[in-house]
Amino acid sequence: MVFRFWFHRTCLTLGLQVGILPCVNKVREIIKRINIKGSVYFNEPMANHTTFQVGGPAEVFIRPETTEDVVTIHELCRSEGIPLFVLGGGANILVSDKGVSGVVLDMTSLDWIEQQGSNLLVGAGTPVSKASAHAADRGLGGFDFIYAMPGSFGGAVWMNARCYGSEMIDILTEVTYLDSYGTIQKMKPDPTEFAYKDTPFMKKDWIILSGTLGLRPDQPDQLWKSMKDFEEDRRTKGHFFAPCAGSVFKNNREFGSPSGQIIDSLGLRGTKRGMAQISPNHANIIINTGNARAQDIYLLMQEVQTKVREHRGFELEPEILLVGDWD
Ligand SMILES: Cc1cc2nc3c(=O)[nH]c(=O)nc-3n(C[C@H](O)[C@H](O)[C@H](O)COP(=O)(O)OP(=O)(O)OC[C@H]3O[C@@H](n4cnc5c(N)ncnc54)[C@H](O)[C@@H]3O)c2cc1C
Repeated sequence: MVFRFWFHRTCLTLGLQVGILPCVNKVREIIKRINIKGSVYFNEPMANHTTFQVGGPAEVFIRPETTEDVVTIHELCRSEGIPLFVLGGGANILVSDKGVSGVVLDMTSLDWIEQQGSNLLVGAGTPVSKASAHAADRGLGGFDFIYAMPGSFGGAVWMNARCYGSEMIDILTEVTYLDSYGTIQKMKPDPTEFAYKDTPFMKKDWIILSGTLGLRPDQPDQLWKSMKDFEEDRRTKGHFFAPCAGSVFKNNREFGSPSGQIIDSLGLRGTKRGMAQISPNHANIIINTGNARAQDIYLLMQEVQTKVREHRGFELEPEILLVGDWD
């Protein structure tokens, strides 16, 4: 357990998101033993589950149907030492061409929304945009900022997704999660523990199951007006122009300008490597112009970091997470 925790933390520090333990040869045989309502696939291409549309096969890809399924899979992986990667909408990850060893747990079937007064309870796999639309239709404001952003509710909570001046912690009042020992827990998030792209979940190997948003009464037509404006703004920034994973690098106030402007000022906009390209619309977005390999995207990221380091002396920190088996 200590080794697993150390290994997981080390992977996090390196920007890698999966622990590869030397015991995965028999994963298939072990997984065949489980009895769950959800589906199990072997060698499932991760390119089908990421917004970059790149990534090699997941050794085992499981889509649980229920919370009980999640608990069962977690317990099996824990007892057998099988690495487990939790997948939301795949909108913030770059999966290696070699794929992912162990189990990928796809949360997208845990897609449900329940209203209790001005609170919205949301399943981890629910697309955030769907939950935002659901709230607006019922005259609940406060979650409009996230409309048209790709990704799941669990993924947005995990990294405190932020846009248009608001972030998840502004409205998040409770989170239900599975802890490292397989126990379902509830927590009232402490805002002092959340910051820009930083949450307690990023330092643990917990699985977010659902969360509660505290919203306020508002006019549906007003909410929809601002949501459509956000969507249009994303469209003009080229977010939907080609497969991508949003901003590649975090912004850092100490650098004086957003990362996109820094990259742009070095003339890197439009740079290509293979089928990966720094978006002609936004220099902090890399797009897949066709059949890009994860390696092309990764090398382009490194090229940008090197140029910025050499010319500006800043170390750009990736926002995108590297997942899977990288050299
Ligand atoms: C076009 C575009 C625009 C974007 N714009 C923005 C933006 O404005 N602001 C912003 O913040 N981000 C933006 N993003 C990035 C992305 O949408 C967010 O980071 C989103 O919150 C990722 O959620 P996901 O479900 O896709 O997570 P994934 O990419 O699937 O996973 C990301 C991380 O979250 C973890 N995770 C996911 N679900 C769970 C869970 N249930 N329990 C535990 N861990 C979990 C994964 O293990 C992984 O470490 C954009 C992406 C795209 C493609």
